[in-house]
Amino acid sequence: MEKICEYNDCTGCALCAAMCPRSCISMKEGRLGHLMPVIDVKSCIDCGKCADCCPVNFSSPGSRRSVRPPIQFRLPSSAWAAWAKDEAEYITSTSGGAASVLARYIVSQGGAVYGSAVVPSAPAGPPEGFSVSHVRIYDLNGISRLKGSKYVCSSIAGVFPEIKGDVRSGKPTLFIGTPCQVAAVRSMFGQVPENLLLVDIVCHGVPSLSLLRYYVRRYLHIPPSAVTGLSFRNTEGFVMEISGKDVHYSHPPLDGSRTGNLYYNLFMDGFTYRDSCYSCPFAGERRVSDMTLGDFWGLGKDVPEHPYGVSLIMPVTSKGEKLIAVLRDNMYLYRRTVGEAAAGNDQLRAPKHKSLRIRLFRCLEPIFGLRIYYLLTADWILKKRLYRLLDRNRKKDTVK
Ligand SMILES: Cc1cc2nc3c(=O)[nH]c(=O)nc-3n(C[C@H](O)[C@H](O)[C@H](O)COP(=O)(O)OP(=O)(O)OC[C@H]3O[C@@H](n4cnc5c(N)ncnc54)[C@H](O)[C@@H]3O)c2cc1C
Ligand code: SF4
Ligand code: SF4
Ligand code: SF4
Repeated sequence: MEKICEYNDCTGCALCAAMCPRSCISMKEGRLGHLMPVIDVKSCIDCGKCADCCPVNFSSPGSRRSVRPPIQFRLPSSAWAAWAKDEAEYITSTSGGAASVLARYIVSQGGAVYGSAVVPSAPAGPPEGFSVSHVRIYDLNGISRLKGSKYVCSSIAGVFPEIKGDVRSGKPTLFIGTPCQVAAVRSMFGQVPENLLLVDIVCHGVPSLSLLRYYVRRYLHIPPSAVTGLSFRNTEGFVMEISGKDVHYSHPPLDGSRTGNLYYNLFMDGFTYRDSCYSCPFAGERRVSDMTLGDFWGLGKDVPEHPYGVSLIMPVTSKGEKLIAVLRDNMYLYRRTVGEAAAGNDQLRAPKHKSLRIRLFRCLEPIFGLRIYYLLTADWILKKRLYRLLDRNRKKDTVK
């Protein structure tokens, strides 16, 4: 097998490696540390299983490689603005806490939940340090591990066999992840089993774990092996917080000046995503999951105050629709329209545009390093500083 799917379309899900009968596919770091499958051609028997399971080969319109029919993308049947009734649940979630409410429900039914968690390195673990990967949660205490958006690629490579095991044993099984990860889990089964619930989050792209570790080590001078906790949002806004033994790092909330935290600004401006993110087939109103969760940006003012953000919930299939009743018990729910949700959320309309600045950054970064970003966005930074200066002077004049 020469190539599994088009290089720039590969989402790094690692399903091909998990399905290869000869275990001859390994995931190796490519551009900006993103993991790409590499085939050991000497061991390959050219069976074609990798290309047949690859979700990219039947998620992109016009793809002819796969023997399977294309994945059905469906329009959500409704859209809801929501936040958790339980204040502690609400405050500790990224938006309205819908993911945790769903996870609690599945665990209380004796099921298993798969979601993204920060995994500290074991004392004798690999020298690279912490990782971010999907883990299996089966008790209520474990749910807090999944809370919060991790703005980095979360590895799902380790959970394919466990998901298969849970689904085959008949357990209610919930998988929450990016749409391309949901497509990979769907692809593992072909036909989605009745006891498997697939929830995707609206996603504009992911940087690699390798880049995050590099940033932590090189720019923050924190050994990645000392990191035990990592979060990207708190009640003040977009803040990266890192904790561990003798480690505490945070910065003032991002304010548009693009100087607060280089990793975070690179992420927000879309400079460090996987190549596949700039042509993502999942960035649109039509979805691959049973239910989509996101932030409800641009929500009308006729909804009561919701101080810590608000979830967008869009049921897509009848399985997703049934969950609205479960959410209603634990969340304040307000019916809205899919159109309103899409109008406020770029990723429900189109993938991130790979602008000239982004292209230049990706060419120049290997030579000049991540800080070349500041040069490429100097006009944005200067504009922000100028506005700030004018604002300060205006305030001074008002006080006089
Ligand atoms: C990389 C990324 C980009 C996003 N971009 C957008 C966007 O453009 N627009 C928008 O509306 N929403 C976006 N979101 C989703 C949003 O930030 C919230 O995750 C979502 O609204 C759910 O919030 P919550 O309060 O219900 O749950 P939370 O408590 O925040 O739980 C989040 C759930 O998402 C899962 N998760 C967290 N990080 C990852 C990850 N790296 N990979 C896979 N799964 C993960 C966890 O398993 C958990 O179940 C993005 C999230 C991520 C991770
Ligand atoms: S063709 Fe078969 S043996 Fe070769 S890499 Fe793909 S799955 Fe593995
Ligand atoms: S998208 Fe997933 S299955 Fe397809 S080549 Fe990339 S890692 Fe393999
Ligand atoms: S933007 Fe698309 S390809 Fe990139 S991580 Fe998100 S869902 Fe996957």
